[in-house]
Amino acid sequence: MEDIDRAKIKKRIEAEIEETSAKVKALHELSKPIAPDNAVGRLSRMEAISTKGINEAALSNAKRKLARLQHALTQVDDPDFGICFECGEQIPIGRILLMPESTMCVQCAEEQEG
Ligand SMILES: [Zn+2]
Repeated sequence: MEDIDRAKIKKRIEAEIEETSAKVKALHELSKPIAPDNAVGRLSRMEAISTKGINEAALSNAKRKLARLQHALTQVDDPDFGICFECGEQIPIGRILLMPESTMCVQCAEEQEG
């Protein structure tokens, strides 16, 4: 991988980390316990609980992404950075810039998910 690409990826990861940290913080606020005396009626409370569940799921996703981004940042100077974890092929730079936390090429990622 070219040094210029590495520098570009590093910047991208740092920006993503910042963005994801802000998201984690915001979602954390949203998934705080709901006060039982939240006098907005039974239906609204149920809605609040279901929204809370969605926020909690989003929060754990964001936290996982943040951990993967932070890991990616420590690996970016490694000669093996950008090599697919699964098949050993170089991951296209476009994909790395799009999803810097990914450790697999598109094909392998799809096979894992599929
Ligand atoms: Zn692969």
